[in-house]
Amino acid sequence: MGSSRDSKSGSSQSKTANSTASAREGIRYDLLLKGGEFIDPASGRRGRLDVAFSEKKVAEIAPEIDSSLARQVESAAGLMVVPGLIDCHVHVAEGIGVSVRPDVIGVNRGATTLADAGSCGSCNFGAFKPVIAENRTRVLAWLNISTIGQTDLRLGELILGAAVNIEEAVEVAADNPEIIVGFKARLSSYVTGNAPAIPYLQRLLEAGNAAKLPVMIHVGDTVEPLGRILDMLRPGDVCSHYLTSRRHNILGIMGFPGAAIIPEAFEARRRGVFLDVARGRNHLGFLQVQKAIEAGLLPDMLSTDLTLPSSADPGYSLMMLVTQFMTFGVSFEDCLKQITVNPAKAIGRPELGKLEAGGVGDATLLKIEEGDFTIRDVDGQTRKTDRRVVAVGVVRDGSFVKIHPAASE
Ligand SMILES: [Zn+2]
Repeated sequence: MGSSRDSKSGSSQSKTANSTASAREGIRYDLLLKGGEFIDPASGRRGRLDVAFSEKKVAEIAPEIDSSLARQVESAAGLMVVPGLIDCHVHVAEGIGVSVRPDVIGVNRGATTLADAGSCGSCNFGAFKPVIAENRTRVLAWLNISTIGQTDLRLGELILGAAVNIEEAVEVAADNPEIIVGFKARLSSYVTGNAPAIPYLQRLLEAGNAAKLPVMIHVGDTVEPLGRILDMLRPGDVCSHYLTSRRHNILGIMGFPGAAIIPEAFEARRRGVFLDVARGRNHLGFLQVQKAIEAGLLPDMLSTDLTLPSSADPGYSLMMLVTQFMTFGVSFEDCLKQITVNPAKAIGRPELGKLEAGGVGDATLLKIEEGDFTIRDVDGQTRKTDRRVVAVGVVRDGSFVKIHPAASE
């Protein structure tokens, strides 16, 4: 990124620069990304195209845009210019439970939009709003149906049945439609206190039906088989951790190499349920990944489930997941859909996850690096690969943020 006109091409100067830009003669754009390989999975448009931004929006996409028209020019030569990436399952209600500051894992790791996955419930959502307001990353939220959300992971938020309050959750969602995209519940036995999950799933769906919003569930180690749970989800609902290796996964009670994928998983896909990776620290088994890919049951969404502890690894990002799935033979283009257009649909924000003139001024700059890289699953298995995908910059609301990718292992 050598050709910035400003000495620093960071975010901090963009506010003042925006106001001076229009005053300067001949300046039409705030920012120009020059010479990149443009890829927009939503429209299928691809090619060597320049992208200009003004007034927080994409102003123009064309084969050649004159550099003298832009206040700031960033070279994208050798890079891919893609829609601002969306991580639809993270924990970023900073100060609550294991949440991490949004910008640490958002714009600083290539994602312009994050959806918090139930860190807050109706009683502590208010504390999340100032965090959302003071970060550059766009932050949306799945609201936990437990009033306390995921305040302390040592205390399963569904153990106290009295803490589940659908009326309150629906009310908070109605008051915050610009932030809340749906409702969340963790259904694992360590959350329910070994109680069956299905009564909680019924309550969760009650909230979704009342507010006309989707729900997101956390599976793995549930009392009931996964198939019974999947059968209850409606089109547009999200099953997170669908490639978990924990008890009651897509390969049955426990996964073993000869096991077949449960039919309910295919049925859920056919019905329009979103299958979400949400890797986290322990929700992805290579066996489940291998089997799902062999069977054509690709993820709808790659998401990180990043938290404060897992964010300590600077290499952990959406791009690490893309790299990982590419080693299993999933194409870069398919992975790109899973972090742009697909999560945009799942969170009910179809204006995100795409790059078009007049649209939201968010983009991510990606690079494919060659070398010797090691990736790991959550059971300690490793795989080698000779290429990895990294993010080297983002555009958020029309202003550029440079990223320094983490060193490889
Ligand atoms: Zn999570």
